[in-house]
Amino acid sequence: MIADNLQRVRARISEACLSSARPQWAVTLLAVSKTFGADAVRDAYAAGQIAFGENYIQEAVDKITTLADLPLQWHCIGPIQSNKTRLVAEHFDWVHSVDRIKIAQRLSEQRPPGKAPLQVCIQVNIDGGPNKAGVTPDAALELAQQVNALPHLKLRGLMTIPEPAADFAAACAVHALARQLVDALNAQGLGLDTLSMGMTADLEAAIQSGSTMVRVGSAIFGKRE
Ligand SMILES: *Cc1c(COP(=O)(O)O)cnc(C)c1O
Repeated sequence: MIADNLQRVRARISEACLSSARPQWAVTLLAVSKTFGADAVRDAYAAGQIAFGENYIQEAVDKITTLADLPLQWHCIGPIQSNKTRLVAEHFDWVHSVDRIKIAQRLSEQRPPGKAPLQVCIQVNIDGGPNKAGVTPDAALELAQQVNALPHLKLRGLMTIPEPAADFAAACAVHALARQLVDALNAQGLGLDTLSMGMTADLEAAIQSGSTMVRVGSAIFGKRE
């Protein structure tokens, strides 16, 4: 079932790339395995999936440890408290949810020597949703410059989680704001290559607007409890 679902999601991504005249290789699929067990991740790996996203740090670390025999790439996409930065720095390859310099500094300090730099996206509250994680678009440049100066992190881009939009055009419009922000940061010399946006419900709109990484959970693993 996971293999079939993955195939369907890959087809959706291909279609979206085709209809927005973007090459298929420009969009990476991140399989969001939060709340699902190690066996589900193994099934997805058997169907060719390498990159996995997790929200809850301790749950993720247990899975990463259990699956250490597989060559997987792990992305932290959930909120990070200060007391969890060490686990993130030690176990993950990517973090999409950096929205404070203090967290970034701790991740850099705690990245084990000999590991590749932690690949980082800054989370931006692109649609100004209330009570939502992420810096405001106005604050993104300063945080990006600060993160960029840290030795054991590699700043790759931005991550957004907009509120559900009314229709396709509205979703595209919100995602386009993120694309414009990345372009503006790159105009300041930041060299970002990643725009992490789009989930099960809105991946087509995100790809249309320039997403380079879609984070898809329920369309692959099924409904969460
Ligand atoms: C859960 C989650 C996803 C996946 O959501 P689906 O709607 O199941 O595809 C993507 N990104 C983040 C940050 C999430 O928390």
